[in-house]
Amino acid sequence: MPSVLPAVTTASMTDRPANPDSLWVATAEPAAPTPPLEGEAKADVAVVGGGFTGLSTALHLAEAGVSVVLVEAAEPGWGASGRNGGQAIPGLKLDPDEIEARFGPELGPRVVELVGGAADFVFGLIRRHGISCHAAQRGWISASFSPAALALAGRRVEQWQRRGVGARLLDRATAAALMGTDRYVGGWLDPRGGALQPLSYARGLARAAIRQGARIHGASPATVLRRDGAQWRVETPGGSVVADQVVLATNGYTDTLWPGLARSIIPVFSYQVATRPLSDNLRRTILPERHVVSDTRRLLLYFRLDHDGRLLMGGRGKLKDSSDPNLYGYVKSALAGLFPQLDRPDYAYFWGGKVAITTDQIPHLHELAPGLHAGLGYNGRGVAMASAMGRLLALRAQGKSATDIPYPISSMRPIPFHGLRLPVLQAIVGWRRMMDRLEAGAR
Ligand SMILES: Cc1cc2nc3c(=O)[nH]c(=O)nc-3n(C[C@H](O)[C@H](O)[C@H](O)COP(=O)(O)OP(=O)(O)OC[C@H]3O[C@@H](n4cnc5c(N)ncnc54)[C@H](O)[C@@H]3O)c2cc1C
Repeated sequence: MPSVLPAVTTASMTDRPANPDSLWVATAEPAAPTPPLEGEAKADVAVVGGGFTGLSTALHLAEAGVSVVLVEAAEPGWGASGRNGGQAIPGLKLDPDEIEARFGPELGPRVVELVGGAADFVFGLIRRHGISCHAAQRGWISASFSPAALALAGRRVEQWQRRGVGARLLDRATAAALMGTDRYVGGWLDPRGGALQPLSYARGLARAAIRQGARIHGASPATVLRRDGAQWRVETPGGSVVADQVVLATNGYTDTLWPGLARSIIPVFSYQVATRPLSDNLRRTILPERHVVSDTRRLLLYFRLDHDGRLLMGGRGKLKDSSDPNLYGYVKSALAGLFPQLDRPDYAYFWGGKVAITTDQIPHLHELAPGLHAGLGYNGRGVAMASAMGRLLALRAQGKSATDIPYPISSMRPIPFHGLRLPVLQAIVGWRRMMDRLEAGAR
């Protein structure tokens, strides 16, 4: 069995990496204590990574009475889960008919039901565990940037309606009234989507899991993962966990712990800005019904109001993380272009994080070796889907067979020429931006 990286135990490795400054850090519920792992722990299941995937796995295992230890390099919610747009969006990037065609008449409809119900699943979890995270299920709008995209929206609405979902197509005027911008040709509304404060949600999941008996350790990066007799051993700078099963839940922040896993996804950066709270006047016109929105540009934009009426705008930026102030230029100019009524937007927060992209556009559930599972690659739709994936991983770690799981279990495939991704992606981003500009000009 592969074992990677020697166990390095320096004091600096147990330092807890700080959260980035963000709107969510400034307004989150306090975190439960998650002391670093010290000494040897035993558990039925060890989970590596404390985002929505790992926390939901730990919560569902603990609820089922399974002993579980979760190790997180920083603290719960430090990765994408505490930095995202807080939009719980049902479904995948693929349409339900496409999903059924891809996975066949037996598995296909079960996958559609799972992914279509993923946002309901999140709001249900929040209610069941009394998680305080400004959750509001008022619907998600997919804003169409071009007539071709609006035609596609019509087909999507029809497919979801056929499955009993109250999705509806929005004409140009209705979309403009619901969003407060007339820059789109229309869109469609999915009532299952909604908003939440993502870091509070992550911390709430951690608190709920701890209440159910899970042991969660922050500042505990897993540095070695290896077989130990019939079990697995996960080593951290301060200790180790010996467990029958291991779940890797490290998504866009996956390192070299398991060979090839980091190369099975493409990590890209997404950036967000948030204004100060808008005036009551502006709030009456911008997203008056508090929908969350993402659009259909090739380089997609997403926006929403938070619970205090701040306007958030996010989008794809440079491919490398940096403190370059120009990093946010694209999203700032998008916000100003969509909402000219803001005159001079008053920005208060800037932050970003890593999104994990897969080449087949669907999240991956793997069994990497007997008793070693991984769930990752949400393509920017992980608020709902990573939470649902956690439940699937918990079922797998309890020994449920592949046929009991309403999701495909695939083999991990490292992406060829992964090392060349930066220049290739840079070229793709440039091309997509140019096409978006041309399309905007042609409307
Ligand atoms: C800016 C931004 C905006 C987004 N907006 C949305 C949105 O509005 N809606 C939506 O649905 N999705 C959105 N996403 C995507 C969504 O946030 C992610 O899909 C989701 O949070 C993934 O959760 P996760 O638990 O799998 O991964 P993460 O939350 O990234 O957690 C992985 C964790 O693993 C830890 N880790 C890594 N290696 C180790 C190790 N060796 N040992 C211990 N711990 C380790 C990391 O510290 C990290 O905390 C956005 C993402 C970003 C970055």
